[in-house]
Amino acid sequence: MPDKYIPKGRSGYTIAGVFVTRLWSKDIDANLAKHEKIHRDQWYYYVNQTGYWFAFPILYAAAGSNACKNRFEIEAGLGDGRYRC
Ligand SMILES: [Zn+2]
Repeated sequence: MPDKYIPKGRSGYTIAGVFVTRLWSKDIDANLAKHEKIHRDQWYYYVNQTGYWFAFPILYAAAGSNACKNRFEIEAGLGDGRYRC
């Protein structure tokens, strides 16, 4: 994915279990992997709850673009996701 599609200050997105990142894979440590796994679990949880595959990105967007206040980012761990809040 071209870098321009990834907003500044974000290390990447989790999309349907695929972690899209601007980081080289050697830079993805255990903490970041754990963080992204939680997002993957969130994704599947809301798919199962609603029946809509796109439920999570909508809820995620509704939770706000400020990661430090986004409940999904807080649940996944801000430090593990490399957010400096
Ligand atoms: Zn995150």
